[in-house]
Amino acid sequence: MESRVVPVEGWQKVVHFTDETTGLNAIISVHDATLGPACGGCRIYPYESFEAGLEDVKNLSRGMTFKNALGGIPFGGGKAVIFADPRKDKTPELLRAFGKAVDSLEGLYYTAEDSGVSEDDMEMIRSVTPYAAGVDKGGIGGNPSPFTARGVWRGVQAAARYKLGAASLKGLHVSILGVGAVGMELARLIHEEGGRLTVADVNQTAVEEARERFGAEIVNPDEAIAVDADIFSPCALGGSINADTIGRLKAKIIAGAANNQLKTPDMDAQLRDLGVLYAPDYVINAAGVISVGLEILGRWTELEVTRRIDKIGDTLMEIFARAEQESRPTGAVADELAMEVIARGKQAA
Ligand code: NAD
Repeated sequence: MESRVVPVEGWQKVVHFTDETTGLNAIISVHDATLGPACGGCRIYPYESFEAGLEDVKNLSRGMTFKNALGGIPFGGGKAVIFADPRKDKTPELLRAFGKAVDSLEGLYYTAEDSGVSEDDMEMIRSVTPYAAGVDKGGIGGNPSPFTARGVWRGVQAAARYKLGAASLKGLHVSILGVGAVGMELARLIHEEGGRLTVADVNQTAVEEARERFGAEIVNPDEAIAVDADIFSPCALGGSINADTIGRLKAKIIAGAANNQLKTPDMDAQLRDLGVLYAPDYVINAAGVISVGLEILGRWTELEVTRRIDKIGDTLMEIFARAEQESRPTGAVADELAMEVIARGKQAA
């Protein structure tokens, strides 16, 4: 296996790994390890270029630094991407080669699941490195997606309470873009609470499942943002709020699981100006990594993970209130709070 450090200003360590025998082509990005070893998932995606993958892993790892800081776990921010199509290219050899790449960083980075990586894949990765989490050990930890969904649900409730004065989601209409591992479970939780659902996904089987199980209406993916709903919940890939889509947004709340929902940073202020309450992505979707963090620390219990996940709503309420008091966008306030946590960590070190 070949490895090459990619110099990126502002990032602690970015390494490009290639392996001819297994076809591995991956980048591991450690943004900041002030609060502890970097922790964040691995995404398998057929990026069209090296630059596109590098850009994604950089942004994602930076997001993890902030997410872990506000999630209250002693970990820095890291992320990995594998350049491959998860439906065609995933082999045990490729996954094990990736595990060896993780292992070569000697604990600077802990990997976990992200888009395109299953729990079985994590087992394979973990067979060659201890620096892999999100693997169920007798009912402890495991697949982070259900936890992430619970955290997003708590965040959706908090946003509805803050913006609409709603005591619950009963009778509220939520448009979910992407009903995969997180979006489908989120849909279940909202449905059980009496919410109304519209869903969109490029995967027809998934939307049909949501229609059958939860009576969800189905729209095309590019229409999801324009649904006349109370809440828009992006749960597919990043960038769904961008210059082309923002003008078509009807909901007054954005609260979803996807990472990097805002295509460009200026969307944060634009949403505030439009009177839209945005639940910053890395705050609302932190529950998966909170579970993973507790698993790595050996402090995972059902009670502890649930207690911490349910605090996501409180953190968001604090952000919403501070943003309103200071007339600032919610994303900027979240960044500031996270930087305060990291600064305290630097002082303590
Ligand atoms: P997933 O791959 O299981 O689901 C994503 C879904 O989005 C799939 O059903 C896919 O078909 C759909 N999709 C992809 N591109 C689309 C498009 N252009 N239009 C419409 N639908 C599209 O992934 P997941 O684990 O559910 O994660 C969803 C999002 O949440 C991702 O952005 C991920 O990074 C983020 N996230 C996930 C977790 C977790 O614990 N799984 C944690 C934090 C953040």
